[in-house]
Amino acid sequence: MAAHKVICWECGAEVDDMFVNLCPRCGGLLTVKMDLTKVQEMKPQDLRKEPLGVWRYAPFMPVDPAHKVSILEGGTPLYPVKALSETIGVKEAYVKFEGLNPTGSFKDRGMTMGVSHAKELGAKVVGCASTGNTSASLAAYASKAGIKCAVFLPSGKVAMGKLAQALFFGAKVLSIDGNFDDALALARKMADERKLYLLNSINPYRPEGQKSVLFEIMDQLDYNIPDRIILPVGNAANIWAVYKALQELKEVGWIDKVPMLTGIQAEGSAPIAKAFAAKRHDFDAELNPETIATAIRIGNPVSGKKALHAIYDTRGFATTVTDAEIIAAQSMLGKKEGVCVEPASAASVAGLKKLRDEGVIDRDERVVCICTGNGLKDPDTIINNSPAPIPCANSVAAVEDILARD
Ligand SMILES: *Cc1c(COP(=O)(O)O)cnc(C)c1O
Ligand SMILES: [Zn+2]
Repeated sequence: MAAHKVICWECGAEVDDMFVNLCPRCGGLLTVKMDLTKVQEMKPQDLRKEPLGVWRYAPFMPVDPAHKVSILEGGTPLYPVKALSETIGVKEAYVKFEGLNPTGSFKDRGMTMGVSHAKELGAKVVGCASTGNTSASLAAYASKAGIKCAVFLPSGKVAMGKLAQALFFGAKVLSIDGNFDDALALARKMADERKLYLLNSINPYRPEGQKSVLFEIMDQLDYNIPDRIILPVGNAANIWAVYKALQELKEVGWIDKVPMLTGIQAEGSAPIAKAFAAKRHDFDAELNPETIATAIRIGNPVSGKKALHAIYDTRGFATTVTDAEIIAAQSMLGKKEGVCVEPASAASVAGLKKLRDEGVIDRDERVVCICTGNGLKDPDTIINNSPAPIPCANSVAAVEDILARD
């Protein structure tokens, strides 16, 4: 196991009970402190003999690759999106398309680490509460590892593709009466009673795998550090993971400045954006979060305080976008770039457009939008926002007639 300790992010206490998810001393959030002394003698090029992907960055991660449970996650493309940049009016924009992970979202980066660690610990059951993608991913990695899996889903409001995946991979899929926050409370209770190993993003090992998205972006840009990275924010672990990766690259001397981390939330589900607008370092939970972007429909973000710290410390920004702006950005990615993302993912591009229009983002910036999940996860939203198939007679003339319309 790579040298590391689990510590409390708030009071610094060291935690050696691997089944607790909050600091036994102060109730604070946990985090992993890596010992990076070995990496200090290395250069980014030293890792490039391994293929692009999560495990290329094993020296930054707390699980020995000998124990890895992997379905070849990460290694996703970083698209230069010229047409989109021109439309939005920004010098250079990229889309990191996380929808091409094995189960179709960035959650696989965290799950390969989390489930590998669960296996190291000898866990008999793993579980999570989820708006969909976490459960799809956990179900896949649990089956690969041969560990029993329970997923707690809020009844209704889970996108079709995600539910199908959790069922398909053989998890016990429990439909809980309530919203995401209710489902999480029950899963945590099970974990506190030691009945399962919890793999929600409160688990400190998952963000360790998620750091790899930032390491990959740096490799793909050859360490030409972008000015800004924009992400959708739900439970807020991903923006925290990206921040942590940046801090570690600074620690080993591979970078000397950091991009402005910019978090985007849906207007109806925006505790972090509201806290940022009020210049606060903590947030108020929202009781009835509502948005078409179900993956970020979260009122009480587990890692919210960490996210606010990440945003302030990188001189970044947070804002909201409406569901209409999300759908417009999703469509623009499809029509201009041939990329199909789910609504939550489109929030990053919608945020880029809004902040550029408002002048928060400069025309000269180099910006990376992380597009977190695949559009096929949620086909209903796409079909509801697209024109219907066109009835057409079985003749060349009829087809020509239709093609001649705009
Ligand atoms: C989980 C998820 C998010 C939100 O990520 P957090 O780490 O919870 O902020 C955004 N988009 C997609 C597609 C997701 O699955
Ligand atoms: Zn503590």
